[in-house]
Amino acid sequence: MEINEWCGQVPIRVLPPEVADKIAAGEVVERPASVVKELVENAIDAGARSIRVEARDGGQRLIRVTDDGVGIPRAELPLAFARHATSKLSSIDDLARIRTLGFRGEALASIAAVSRLTMISRTADSLGGAVIRVAGGQQEPLSDVGAPLGTSVSVESLFYNVPARLKFLKAPATEAGHIHRVVTRYAIAFPEIRFYLQLNERAVLQTSGNGSLFDVLIEVLGLDTCRQLLPLSWAARAAGPTVTGFVGQPGLHTAQRDHIVLFVNRRWVQDRLLTAAVVQAYHTFLPTGRYPVAVLELGIDPAEVDVNVHPTKSEVKFRDQQSVFAAVQKAVREVVSSCDASTPLAVRPGEPSHEWSGATGRSDGGGWRQLAQFGFEVQRTVSDGRDGDREAPARLPVLRVLGQLAQMYIIAEGPDGMYLIDQHAAHERVLYEQLQRQRAASTVLSQQLLTPAVLELTPAQAAILDAEADVMAELGFDIEPFGGYSYRLRAVPEMFLTADPVAAVCDILAELADGAVPLSRRADERIMATVCKRIAIKAGQSLSLREIQELVRNLEQCESPRTCPHGRPTLLHLSAAQLAREFGRA
Ligand code: ADP
Ligand code: MG
Repeated sequence: MEINEWCGQVPIRVLPPEVADKIAAGEVVERPASVVKELVENAIDAGARSIRVEARDGGQRLIRVTDDGVGIPRAELPLAFARHATSKLSSIDDLARIRTLGFRGEALASIAAVSRLTMISRTADSLGGAVIRVAGGQQEPLSDVGAPLGTSVSVESLFYNVPARLKFLKAPATEAGHIHRVVTRYAIAFPEIRFYLQLNERAVLQTSGNGSLFDVLIEVLGLDTCRQLLPLSWAARAAGPTVTGFVGQPGLHTAQRDHIVLFVNRRWVQDRLLTAAVVQAYHTFLPTGRYPVAVLELGIDPAEVDVNVHPTKSEVKFRDQQSVFAAVQKAVREVVSSCDASTPLAVRPGEPSHEWSGATGRSDGGGWRQLAQFGFEVQRTVSDGRDGDREAPARLPVLRVLGQLAQMYIIAEGPDGMYLIDQHAAHERVLYEQLQRQRAASTVLSQQLLTPAVLELTPAQAAILDAEADVMAELGFDIEPFGGYSYRLRAVPEMFLTADPVAAVCDILAELADGAVPLSRRADERIMATVCKRIAIKAGQSLSLREIQELVRNLEQCESPRTCPHGRPTLLHLSAAQLAREFGRA
């Protein structure tokens, strides 16, 4: 095509509104989790005490957010979908002191442009609710419906009219994982609001709304991690920023920075500056290349921060970057350096909750909370028992590590005698339950390979791969046919990254093909067991004391700590009575 043929004769036109809407929608609605974020923010802005989020098929089929907030008056329902229609901002001056999460008046218009949306709402002064449907931006007339106080928004067939976007959606499990992370962040930021999240049929998050940040963190991170958190509440002497939340003891660290979760005036933010301030505060306390865990809120005068930097509002700009950096670094450093790593629990469950001290001026709250962008595995869901006294007897007691034997076994002491733990089998068990939980919560993290690798399989391996493609995808493997018995490996589970991924995948398929794992097991369990076997630490690997302690702590958390996923024992227990007998003391 000739250049001038391509751009020469076309006159400049104002885009038809449907086209402009779809383009603008792209900025706000990138994926299902963006819809969830906007709807949850609206519910919070509406003063909800309870927010329920449901998603089906990773949100592509259905997202529904129901709140018990103030509702929208019937007459204003159609207006809520007009672009730049908002009840939260009336003049340019308001923009300088935004206290609500929303303010751009774009979300509903954007979502409705790329889905089939139904909104039902009722305000306190109205006896019945009203329902409005909007499909691809086209509104249908209002009708009446019985409804509880508050608002419910259902978004179906997301991107049905934007095939380009639809193509870019990841597997439902991946999208569901994003949704989970988003809802968790708000549950942390707002412990006074009760959150419920359901993915397909499964309840994956439920907070009490009792106002305790620590309770929310137990729900999200698990008791084990929470035991190692230190409360933090810091304010500059003069009026200035406040820093509140929890930071990990120096013994708690991770390979990635994403366990540092930050909120500014209860808005989750991604901010390099604040992250760097937290990391620097731990300087000399952590091994190199390891990162701390922190859930922090910066409370700051809204006039000192610009949240209107990006349509998703997750980036912010500070007027005085230096003082913000200094405040965060100082606050964290003080707590971390005053903590003697050998003292046990800094915070015990059941102690009075720690309150966020946000400067947002929300009257109701009772404190702020925040959550995690957790690269944290979501370790706990509502159904998990987490009180010591509810634990099944199969669980392990708290063990004290004594050392490693023959680079193969860990020696530990418990309340009732000695434990000899097989490090490989124990790690397999830990990884297996981690993977199980992540899978149940649809939060298995997948990592793209920089350059896709080609797998040359045997016919037997290829047959297994074809048969188990769904499970492999759910576990985070992205493998596509590449002609004959060749396949292209494009992504692997994040857990898997340290290994040589190609060799590892081939091994897994070979093992499955030989039936090394009993064939009677369900295919997905066999695959998970094989994956864990491959990435678990091996016999002959020497471990640092810290690594051993971490492994033993993780094993203590397992539901079935006494066997590996293949059914072999992970440990031998010599009870005090047995020892006494053996030594002729009894
Ligand atoms: P914004 O939140 O930026 O104002 P939205 O497009 O998200 O823009 O929402 C438009 C308006 O619709 C809001 O300003 C608010 O008045 C109303 N609204 C949206 N969702 C709710 C809700 N869940 N409860 C009450 N009002 C709502
Ligand atoms: Mg909004």
